[in-house]
Amino acid sequence: MKIDPEVCNGCGLCAKDCPVSVVTMADKKAHIADGCVECRTCLRVCPVGAVIDEVVEVPGALVCDRCPVGCAIGPERTGACGRFVNAGGELKRTRPLLTYDQVAGGLQPEPEELIRRPWITAIGAGGTYPDYIPAPYIVADKRDGVDVVTVVTEAPLSYSGLKLKIDTDLEVGPEGAPVRLEGRVVGMVETEEYGSKILAIGGVNRLTGKSGFAAARAVAALANREALTLKVRGGARLEVAVGRPPVINGQTVERMRVGCGSASAGLFAPFFARAADEVIVLDHHITSLFTHHAAGRHLGLKPSGLELTFQRSTPGRYFGTTGHGWGGTDVEDPLAVVAAVDTSLTRPGSTLLITETTGVQAAMYRLDQRGVFQPMELTPAAAQAVAAIAESCQESRVSAVYVGGVGGSARAGVTRYPLRLTRAVHAATAHLTCGGAPVFVLPGGGITFYVDVEQVAHGAFTWVPTPATVAPIEYTMRLDDYRAMGGHVEAVKPFKTLEPVPWSPSKS
Ligand code: SF4
Ligand code: SF4
Repeated sequence: MKIDPEVCNGCGLCAKDCPVSVVTMADKKAHIADGCVECRTCLRVCPVGAVIDEVVEVPGALVCDRCPVGCAIGPERTGACGRFVNAGGELKRTRPLLTYDQVAGGLQPEPEELIRRPWITAIGAGGTYPDYIPAPYIVADKRDGVDVVTVVTEAPLSYSGLKLKIDTDLEVGPEGAPVRLEGRVVGMVETEEYGSKILAIGGVNRLTGKSGFAAARAVAALANREALTLKVRGGARLEVAVGRPPVINGQTVERMRVGCGSASAGLFAPFFARAADEVIVLDHHITSLFTHHAAGRHLGLKPSGLELTFQRSTPGRYFGTTGHGWGGTDVEDPLAVVAAVDTSLTRPGSTLLITETTGVQAAMYRLDQRGVFQPMELTPAAAQAVAAIAESCQESRVSAVYVGGVGGSARAGVTRYPLRLTRAVHAATAHLTCGGAPVFVLPGGGITFYVDVEQVAHGAFTWVPTPATVAPIEYTMRLDDYRAMGGHVEAVKPFKTLEPVPWSPSKS
């Protein structure tokens, strides 16, 4: 890479983002010193096009092929990720391989087997209110000769919400966009994860805000796997129910993509090599151009003469656009992604297969004598490649984790010394479950947990118009530990004498 000083405006973005810190600023101009690995970060970040895409040969440099960047790493230098070093003409990992035993000391402690399962769940238990009274059920019994106690409560939680995961490539709306239920804001579009969109529903500020009742109702309904229709501002209409395929703008999403376009090129490289002279996998995240991609080159293919309309990330990988077209891009006619064809490299008669990361749509073309791609039927090898993608896709579904914060007053029903409970949960001497299901407790302060709602019995969540959502919470620990934390030992009852109470919802 080189900097054109006439164009450089001295903004310094390239110096900030250069992963090996070889760009310096002097006299309001960028300079590239020794050690550049040709990762092209500066080229992509420069807002005025001052970086000249010109390879500066470095004697003794080695090209790393451990990721799509393809760093050219000079002697005794490291690549962009800092993981590989050119040590004496050999690429080596910069840190040694660690065994489990070497890292075990730094891991979160796990609860002992004895306390992993509660005696009872809190589903149907009732609550602890006002807070200082003991939890409604505190039961103990012997397990492997040791007294083990479970303390349960159905806790109203203002600090609660839900992360809704919707498996789809379709655009649902911009990140940060409000999500409405019956016209009221109950959440927002959060991040996009692998093949899925994440919505955040509820959260304390929405629950206590002017749409709080609707937000609490939405969280409880989704956690109980009920169907809801949500609308994203500036985005899609979503019909969602945990455990079922999502319906987006009236379209049922059946398949979840196998990976991004680049992952598809890697996963199905042997199929693609037989399918056509060039294969494009359209994807709004990364679209791939197979013969330029590392997977195609690894198989000995020569890069074709095709150029795509998308911005190139690394060889054979392009940043897609988002929209309602193929692969979640804005490309409605797949051939429109081809910007140009160099017929000296891609000769007339060459074939092109374009598909998506779900294999739902596919089209095939042959280049005519005028250098124009003409549609043709998929060949058996092309159909096989598309089928290989489709068969590898999971069914799309909606799933959710409930997020609950129980580090507040709900602790009083367990112990007179709330901080001792918090510490015991983090030290894994008290094991928290939600409706009997395992939870993930977030690190740091408080007791904030995630639970997969599909592991919790139907109808276990509800809401109260404070507003808050109500979740079943259980703590299980050794009775000795419970006593030591100042627990309500006087309220402990033997588990064996506990009669399950028949229960059915009352009708108003
Ligand atoms: S190509 Fe990469 S390593 Fe080289 S100057 Fe630019 S950002 Fe730094
Ligand atoms: S793995 Fe690291 S060193 Fe290798 S090409 Fe990728 S960024 Fe560069």
